[in-house]
Amino acid sequence: MENFQIPTSEIVIPSQGLLYPENHPLKQGNFAFRAMTAREEDILFSKSLLRTGDVLDVLIESCCLIPNFRALDALSCDRNAMLVAIRISGFGSEYKTMATCPVCGESSIYDFNLSELPIKTLGEPPLEPNTNLFAFELPNMKWKILFRLLDGKDEKEIREEEIKEKARKDKLQESVSSKFGASIGNITRIEPEITGKLKRMIIKINNVEDKNKIAQMINIMPTLDTRAFREYIDFVEPRVEMTKVVTCSQCDYTLERDIPMTTDFFWPKR
Ligand SMILES: [Zn+2]
Repeated sequence: MENFQIPTSEIVIPSQGLLYPENHPLKQGNFAFRAMTAREEDILFSKSLLRTGDVLDVLIESCCLIPNFRALDALSCDRNAMLVAIRISGFGSEYKTMATCPVCGESSIYDFNLSELPIKTLGEPPLEPNTNLFAFELPNMKWKILFRLLDGKDEKEIREEEIKEKARKDKLQESVSSKFGASIGNITRIEPEITGKLKRMIIKINNVEDKNKIAQMINIMPTLDTRAFREYIDFVEPRVEMTKVVTCSQCDYTLERDIPMTTDFFWPKR
């Protein structure tokens, strides 16, 4: 019998492995994987995986060639790079997606080349080698903040909270319409996305380690400080730059657009 081999490949992950402990499977800073096959296409269309939102974790683990690797243990920045590499191996580097122009409101198709996305490395080394720990002092309040970058586990917990939140809203909607026969419309999210992320990232403010106290402190953080802190995170964080300068085909308006990891990314229309 002939010996068939699926093409394999390796990428350098944005963190370069610098934020993982010594014995971590990603410590070497590389992600070795094999190209997508029919097996991964089955994963992408698995109803149960799509429902729980675990589909991308299973996909990454299915293609990964590193022993003992768990997708949840990878930092979000590295996971994105893995997903881009796996996507290219399965559907090529051309990525077309629809987006609306903020000026003229026209929808047009934008074309991105995923193989040309620049990798941004760490802006500054972590507090100690082989840790995911950083420090920042707020310019206004002078609070000393200890924080970490998010990983797959955080992403999973955020997804689960969103599912719970949606169920809660649906239930509320149901009880309101049965009582009043009316719709309550869109109930706004209790916690905006950015605050939610900061609450996960921050481990300590001055000497406070209590999660609830930290949450209260984040809520009263002046905008000046939140902005400075977010700019610092942006500077430190390694990542695949998922943005590109694009020009609207209708009105010639030029802007830097996020390359969305929407359904078109892994489920391109063919
Ligand atoms: Zn336009």
